[in-house]
Amino acid sequence: MTLNLAQSLTEASPGSHPTVSCGCVAGDQVQWRGVDDPMPSGGVGTVVSVTESKVQVRFANHIRFCSPDEIVKVTSPVATPAPSCSLAVVFFDFDSTLSAPQYVHRANDYAVCDRIELCCSLTEDEVIANFGGSERLANLLDMLEYLEQGGVNLFIISLGFTRAISHHLGMVKLDRFFDSDRIYGQDSESFRQLRHKKASLIEQLLGENCWQKSQALFVDDDERNIGLCREMGACNVLHVRGHGLCKAEMDVIKAELER
Ligand SMILES: [Mg+2]
Repeated sequence: MTLNLAQSLTEASPGSHPTVSCGCVAGDQVQWRGVDDPMPSGGVGTVVSVTESKVQVRFANHIRFCSPDEIVKVTSPVATPAPSCSLAVVFFDFDSTLSAPQYVHRANDYAVCDRIELCCSLTEDEVIANFGGSERLANLLDMLEYLEQGGVNLFIISLGFTRAISHHLGMVKLDRFFDSDRIYGQDSESFRQLRHKKASLIEQLLGENCWQKSQALFVDDDERNIGLCREMGACNVLHVRGHGLCKAEMDVIKAELER
C-alpha cells in the first residue's frame, strides 16, 4: 500500500458515493472473501470510502483497503436522513397559494381548480393572470428554482382537479418543478382514500420517503388545512395570509433552506 493511495482514499469526500466495480457505496455492509488473513467481526465490515480501484472497509477497529474482488456487498446503507435542520420537502396548496385565482368574465366564474372545464380552457394570458401576473410569476419561478437547486422535493396537494393544476403549470412552464406523481388533486386515489386530509397525506409521504417532519414545510392559505396539520403535528406550516403567496412569504420559504 503506497502512501499516495492511502491519502487519496482518506481524502475521498465523505458525502459523495462514487461506485466501483463491486457496486459498493460508502455505508454498505460487505463480507470479506479474500483468501489471506481472516478478518475480525466474522469478516463483515462497513465501507468507509471508495475510489475507482479500491474500497476502504472498516472491520471492527481494523481498516483495510480492499480490491473489489475481495469483498461482496451484504446490505445497502440504511437511508441516512439529512440533518434535521435542512429542508427536504415542501408541500404547496395550489389555489390562492401558488395561484392567485382571478374572476373570468367570459365564464362568469373564478378560475379555481375545482372548475375543471374553465381551468382547462384558460389561455396563456389568462393563466398568467391567474398566477397574479408576470411579476408574481417571475417571483414564483425564482423561488421554485432556488428550492430545486437546494435539492428540495416539491409537491402540490390541492382540493382542485389534477388536470386543471397541470394545465396551469404546463402553460407557463412551471411543470418542470413538479413531477406528475407529485401533484395530488381531489381526484388522486391515495388522497381520496385519506378523505382529502392534507395532513394525513403529508404524514404518509414523509413516511414513504424517510423524511423527518422537521425537514418538511406545508404551505396553504386555508386555516382548516393549516390547523389540522398543526393539530396532528405533521410538519412545519406556513399560513398564506393574502391572495396567493406574496414575495415576502416566498422569501420566508427560501430562507428555510438556510436555517
Ligand atoms: Mg387554497
